[in-house]
Amino acid sequence: MTQSDILLKHLSTVFDPELGGNIVELGMVKKVDHEGSTVKIDLALTIADCPMRSQIEKEITRKLTLLENVETVEINVVAMDQKDRTAVMEKARKKARENAQPTKIDPRTRVIAIGSGKGGVGKSTLSTNIALGLSKKGFKTGLLDADIWGFSIPRLLGIKGRIEANEDKLMVPFVYDDLKVISTGLITSDEDTALMWRGLMLSKALEQFLTNVEWGDIDYLIIDLPPGTGDIQMALSRLLPQAELIVVTTPQLMAQKVATRVADMAKRSFIPLLGVIENMSYFETNTGDKFNIFGQGGGDALAEQFALPILGKIPISEDTNDIADDGTPLILQEKNTPTKTEIEKLISVIAEKLPPIVDETCTGRLAKVFEELAK
Ligand code: ADP
Repeated sequence: MTQSDILLKHLSTVFDPELGGNIVELGMVKKVDHEGSTVKIDLALTIADCPMRSQIEKEITRKLTLLENVETVEINVVAMDQKDRTAVMEKARKKARENAQPTKIDPRTRVIAIGSGKGGVGKSTLSTNIALGLSKKGFKTGLLDADIWGFSIPRLLGIKGRIEANEDKLMVPFVYDDLKVISTGLITSDEDTALMWRGLMLSKALEQFLTNVEWGDIDYLIIDLPPGTGDIQMALSRLLPQAELIVVTTPQLMAQKVATRVADMAKRSFIPLLGVIENMSYFETNTGDKFNIFGQGGGDALAEQFALPILGKIPISEDTNDIADDGTPLILQEKNTPTKTEIEKLISVIAEKLPPIVDETCTGRLAKVFEELAK
């Protein structure tokens, strides 16, 4: 694969929210050059001074500078001529007509998958708190427990409810505060049925949860992946081209080694890597002394290896095991602890790095019109 093929693969994860397709398939990327650490792009927009422009430009820059060998991106915007404009509109219309969207997740939804090399590093705890935190900030958020076998989110949230289906036979997420939650653990309480059902779902689990769930209009979807690099991780980029990945690790070098595999897999599947969270980084006493109980360096080593930012270092909480595992997520606990503070910071970092997509349009509400046309 040539360097420009690789760049085009990454550019195809940038969507024109209005036209509902990615900028490569819509023919908006006219030219890509990579010289040193600079990428130069000719980008054709339907109208040059379109309000979507800065959003698309920001998104291109953000996605490409996530790559190790790209530092600056220069975008030269050109307005499409009439012929190009007709062609791109025709493509967008065709996509809408074919209902090419493979899932019920809107291309405008930010999708953050949270992965880890192995279990027990706090991936589910962090997924739950991040989703709740984004929801508490006022963003419409969904939390998908893709850990089909080892689901733990219902327990972490203390949910005993069940998912129901609506008239269209779509599963309706369980709503916790304002957060929409889907997990195999919410499907049935009867263990035998659950096991059989899970068996049937094995390979298609993620697909089911993305296509047969009434997610509605959400700003963020947080996906708690199973640990490791199995089928579900592999299906992610195919089903959700806009998905980005956060890798959770602990400070131990052993944990970092297995986390490397997840980051590698993401790279090979062109899933953008948003950054690393180091969990259980240290323990902080009441007097502010810090102890590196599980050693140190794992998060930094992983971040360095893949040229990624550290999104947060979360200390060990005295209470996590007792209280959090019993249904009161850390960020909802009243007591202010170093762990709660660092998780809150982490949520702000994520919301800042990946702000929700604003629904501005260039040429009226085209996407909506096409959706109507497709009916
Ligand atoms: P994973 O999803 O990676 O398997 P979990 O989120 O289920 O991991 O966490 C494993 C255990 O570690 C749980 O008992 C959880 O409460 C605990 N835990 C997670 N993060 C922390 C933390 N920062 N401090 C203390 N305990 C934690």
